[in-house]
Amino acid sequence: MSEPRFAVFGHPIAHSLSPRIHAAFGKQLGVPLQYTAIDAPPETFAAQLDAFGKAGGSGANITLPHKQAVLALCAHVSDFARRAGAVNTLTRRLDGHWRGDNTDGAGLVRDIAQRHGLDLRERRGLLLGAGGAARAAAFALLDAGVAELTIVNRTPERADALADAIGEPDRVRTRYWDALGTLGNFELIVNATSAGHTRQSLRLPFALVAPRALCYDLSYGMTASAFLAWARAAKAGFAYDGLGMLIEQAAESFAIWHGRRPDTDVVYDEFRGELPLHASD
Ligand code: NAP
Repeated sequence: MSEPRFAVFGHPIAHSLSPRIHAAFGKQLGVPLQYTAIDAPPETFAAQLDAFGKAGGSGANITLPHKQAVLALCAHVSDFARRAGAVNTLTRRLDGHWRGDNTDGAGLVRDIAQRHGLDLRERRGLLLGAGGAARAAAFALLDAGVAELTIVNRTPERADALADAIGEPDRVRTRYWDALGTLGNFELIVNATSAGHTRQSLRLPFALVAPRALCYDLSYGMTASAFLAWARAAKAGFAYDGLGMLIEQAAESFAIWHGRRPDTDVVYDEFRGELPLHASD
């Protein structure tokens, strides 16, 4: 019997570490699998995913920019993915239809709470961004006990839409990017924008960072370097990139597909060696 086939779909996708991470998990647990990266621009994504399923593809990860659009292609969606309005894990069911899950939120919380040993409860949080990853992060952080969350996005309507979807006006508010200098400070600042990919500066005031604050960039490697440099210059207590989240969300997907969760620490250490926590000005 041929190995079950998996893939990550995105655009661009050449940078994705997912094929190597899933190969490492499979090797660790003795699970045979094929996992490839498929470059899928928005115009052809649905057709490419359909062809992958018809050719026997068992499951897929979905990344930028398709996490929200793929919801419409799922016949079944987990509660968390429906709340977040974003899917990053597809599993082909016996009836040939896709089931959508979202493991980004669990990956983020697991990395912060278990790998870095930090308590999220009662923190005043600031979330920068309102795209697919930010949506999952918002729901997961609130579920994990963050006291309140301020969402700021370059396009304010998307932040408002996310706050409306959460529906907890006592805990969640939105503000304009221009007002960042007037918001006081936060004990948790999560950068869920993709600005680092294009090396665009977020122009964040240092005054946002409370003493002992945790600053976390969902992106990793050099893409996170400007945000991490800002966080350290602002004297944040902790500054982490999203490599651990990437590996934890992959492990959650792996468990959905194969029924077993790999040991993530060895894989994290291997990739951390290649991608040190950069902080450059
Ligand atoms: P997305 O849906 O395309 O959303 C991008 C977000 O970034 C939007 O809120 C966008 O604002 C904002 N943005 C882009 N350029 C900006 C700029 N110059 N200034 C301010 N805001 C800007 O992308 P996504 O899927 O949410 O991914 C977001 C980031 O998370 C990416 O860096 C991705 O690599 C990372 N990520 C990491 C993991 C992990 O496991 N570590 C998982 C998922 C995603 P507008 O709404 O105004 O366009």
